[in-house]
Amino acid sequence: MSDNWIVLIPEDPQFVPNAEAQRRARDLFAEVAPEADDIEIKVSDTVQFFDCGANLERICCPSCGSEIPADCWQDHMDEDSDGEKGFKLASYPAPCCDKEHTLHDLAYDWPQGFGRFALNAKNPKIGRLEDKHKQEFEFILGTKLRVIYQHI
Ligand SMILES: [Zn+2]
Repeated sequence: MSDNWIVLIPEDPQFVPNAEAQRRARDLFAEVAPEADDIEIKVSDTVQFFDCGANLERICCPSCGSEIPADCWQDHMDEDSDGEKGFKLASYPAPCCDKEHTLHDLAYDWPQGFGRFALNAKNPKIGRLEDKHKQEFEFILGTKLRVIYQHI
């Protein structure tokens, strides 16, 4: 058995929408994906990692486009994670061009990212989230969003 999630996170990892906006976004997701197994809001005091699971194919440098080796990325993940305090999202020089990026800034294919807020739909059965719906979520939540398709 495998599961699929659509996970919406703010592009700004520190951003947490207010409670009313969270509730409205959750209601919208229930309308957009009425057959979802579950719709869940996650809020934490610390920055957490939201991965795309088996959908991850490669990680590239956003400055020069070179692929970042998995072991290099893993080292930075270990260094950046502060146990219960979550991720610091410090900047690290890329091995290819030395330009500095946080782990959230890297070009993940498929997308994944970091944040303190997420809105998840488990097994939404809608394929890709339509752009018009993404824009509605962005309007309600007051932030640009990153859409993560997690496959486990
Ligand atoms: Zn580079």
